[in-house]
Amino acid sequence: MADVIKLLPDHVANQIAAGEVVQRPASVVKELLENAIDAGADAIKLIVKDGGKTLIQVVDNGDGMSETDARLAFERHATSKINKAEDLFNLNTKGFRGEALASIAAIAHVDLQTKKDDAEVGTAIKIAGSSIKAQEVVVTPKGTSLAVKNLFFNIPARRNFLKSDQVELRHITDEFHRVALVHPNISFQFYNNGAEYFNLPIESHRQRIVHVFGNKMNERLVPVSEDTDVVKIHGFICKPEFARKSRGEQFFFANNRYIKSPYLNHAVTAAFEGLLKSDTHPGYFLFLEVNPATIDINIHPTKTEVKFDDEHTLYAILRSAIKHSLGQFNVAPVLDFESNQDLDMPYAYKDKSTQMPTVSVDAAFNPFQEKKSGSNAGIRVGLPKKESTKGWENLYEFEGGEPTNFSSIQVESSFETTSLFTEQSDNETGQNLFQLQRKYVVSTVKSGLLLINQNRAHQRILFERFLKDITVNKAVSQQLLFPVHLEYGQKDLSILKSLNEVLENLGFDIHFDNNGAIQVNGVPTLLAENNVSTVLDTVLATYDNEQATDSFSQAEIMARLLSTSLAIRTGQELTIEAQQNLVNDLFACKEPKLSPHNKKVYTILGLNEIENKF
Ligand code: ADP
Ligand code: MG
Repeated sequence: MADVIKLLPDHVANQIAAGEVVQRPASVVKELLENAIDAGADAIKLIVKDGGKTLIQVVDNGDGMSETDARLAFERHATSKINKAEDLFNLNTKGFRGEALASIAAIAHVDLQTKKDDAEVGTAIKIAGSSIKAQEVVVTPKGTSLAVKNLFFNIPARRNFLKSDQVELRHITDEFHRVALVHPNISFQFYNNGAEYFNLPIESHRQRIVHVFGNKMNERLVPVSEDTDVVKIHGFICKPEFARKSRGEQFFFANNRYIKSPYLNHAVTAAFEGLLKSDTHPGYFLFLEVNPATIDINIHPTKTEVKFDDEHTLYAILRSAIKHSLGQFNVAPVLDFESNQDLDMPYAYKDKSTQMPTVSVDAAFNPFQEKKSGSNAGIRVGLPKKESTKGWENLYEFEGGEPTNFSSIQVESSFETTSLFTEQSDNETGQNLFQLQRKYVVSTVKSGLLLINQNRAHQRILFERFLKDITVNKAVSQQLLFPVHLEYGQKDLSILKSLNEVLENLGFDIHFDNNGAIQVNGVPTLLAENNVSTVLDTVLATYDNEQATDSFSQAEIMARLLSTSLAIRTGQELTIEAQQNLVNDLFACKEPKLSPHNKKVYTILGLNEIENKF
């Protein structure tokens, strides 16, 4: 019988290996940046076109390569970084597998130019699909320039699998952040489609974080520092009141390498316990230094998952270091009031715009006193003194005018949506309707009893309305008397810009300044002014995670997100007229049965079912 086993040709083996190393343009960016850092560069330029699909180029001023090394670099398992197996346990470089360049050259057109400091001239090499197309001598400055063009040109299936340029750029930006944040001693320039996207000089860690995420970051950072035998920790956490819905600003670095660690993330979150609003995540930039021998970074091909020898100790040290910082910088006491989620939300929310922790407490304020006539309508309560918590319901009465209970407070704290149904009714129309548990609107119908989930019904109504606004006719914008000013980092800004048309159709009127700030001049009619930043945060958190490619799904995601945010909640009391409107609007919808999240909106309790109960 003939033998059947053959060795794979190198270019095939390389293509297979490439599948592991290069998932998308961002993976190339990561590998090239890491190589530049390993080469000792202190100035690195990243140039990207069309989300990295057409071009990714990294230019560094590092050591460069000799002519022979330049050719060898593209061989599989060619690395200058380890000689023997033991070296693996004492790594201070980022790469060591010798796979990246071989893999990249297998699936793209690569142009390399490189020169060592002491060499007269440099080497230029062109490679495509693993084979060297040209090599010549060039005049080039010290260092290396590596351009990767037409990624996956020879694997159409992979190329088609890539997402929109915007999404790929976002992934690239994430990788760039991860590298730039931990190397403030290196200057970085990042050009996207010919325009400068980041320009980061050599600076301190703190400055680098602020440079990357925008000036507003500066006041949010609280330093963390701890020095033990097991680990040295330094870096920053963000004050709890700036915790966000997205996990975008959470960074761990171990020995100068970005890592993911759900376990250590848990340690941080545990330190913040009781200080965060639900569904928000604290920001942090934490740099850990451990003995390289006690950490195994090699368990995952993309090398972001790590294993520490003594995780439990690390957990405890990290947690206490952060607690310490929160306490030392006087961040924690502000949040004393937060022991009960239901109780604190209205205040915690309003306090967003005030300066913490020096909350100005109105000493003369007395929760049991009658309403002061015509006093400032908006943020009227400030943070009450702690003892006054028992006068709470009364506090709330000032705002609403009528007695209310905690469940309805929770509702109104998140979004003010009552305006939708504010018209007063004289109850003449809705004798068939009533509200059950402030959750269902109940009506008698021919076949029995109709039970409508008020929150889901309103979500459906708003969803269809917003979808129409976005795709068919532009909604009216409610112009703000006092525009809202907000600041974002580059990545968030580029998300907002890419969504601007959709946002405009919904009624947002956003002006982008040049310095990372935006000015919101108008909002959708249903949106209260003081909710603008929360809603935009939700937008950013959602688009950070979702991978909307075509414009329809973009519209749908946005409509779903806003309808979820703005719909009337469970616990909200509805006037008869509001109930009536809800029912009418619901049944005017194209798909009244399901909420935008595909949950049941209403059910009918049939007469038979009712009869069976007797
Ligand atoms: P690894 O980084 O794991 O060693 P790579 O395939 O990324 O493997 O790179 C192979 C080798 O090419 C490196 O070990 C290094 O010697 C050389 N090299 C790659 N990029 C650069 C660069 N920008 N400057 C100098 N040398 C480089
Ligand atoms: Mg490498």
